[in-house]
Amino acid sequence: SSFGHLGFDEKMMNMIIKSGYTTPTPIQAQGVPVAMSGRDIIGIAKTGSGKTAAFIWPMILHILDQREQKAGDGPIGLICAPTRELSQQIYTEAKKFSKPYGLQVVCAYGGGSMYEQQKACTECPEIIVCTPGRLIDLVKKKSTNLQRVTFLVFDEADRMFDMGFEAQVRSIANHVRPDRQTLLFSATFKRKVERLARDILSDPVRVVQ
Ligand code: AMP
Repeated sequence: SSFGHLGFDEKMMNMIIKSGYTTPTPIQAQGVPVAMSGRDIIGIAKTGSGKTAAFIWPMILHILDQREQKAGDGPIGLICAPTRELSQQIYTEAKKFSKPYGLQVVCAYGGGSMYEQQKACTECPEIIVCTPGRLIDLVKKKSTNLQRVTFLVFDEADRMFDMGFEAQVRSIANHVRPDRQTLLFSATFKRKVERLARDILSDPVRVVQ
């Protein structure tokens, strides 16, 4: 299929075929090779563009590459989203594509059971999908830590601002090791998003839907 040139392994290709995807969307065709090369990305893409898979696939392959070398109990992949609904959607997609590799994914959002989320985090998932405030609470309670995160995604950055999460987003970015790979997605590219991108990304490639 036209996914062939993206360099995915058989497990990933099988899951893509099983999902009924026949062609990469534009954001996937452009973004996946950039993400797999290890570069930071500022992605301008809306819901429906296929942006979720565009960061989930490279994240999974990054984790498979890293998990043997880096001991630790915190996640390697961290995805922050502005709302519970969006984090649950991302979680569903992340779980689907992680399953063939035996990677664990946890979803943690404000309003959900703190007890359940703490318990899930202590089982050492390789991927955490979260809203920013709840992640910070879980780190404060030492249910998880950011020491092993090397693949960091912020989705819907413009909505992060609307939800009042700027300080939390910046705090998370500041607490993740500087030698990480960071992907920032936003439906719009306003001045605030541009400023955030300049502060938390390193020599990013701009990818437009
Ligand atoms: P997203 O923009 O990530 O929220 O994705 C929107 C929808 O498109 C989701 O239901 C995905 O499962 C689906 N999708 C993602 N990539 C593809 C693809 N390459 N072909 C067809 N559907 C896709």
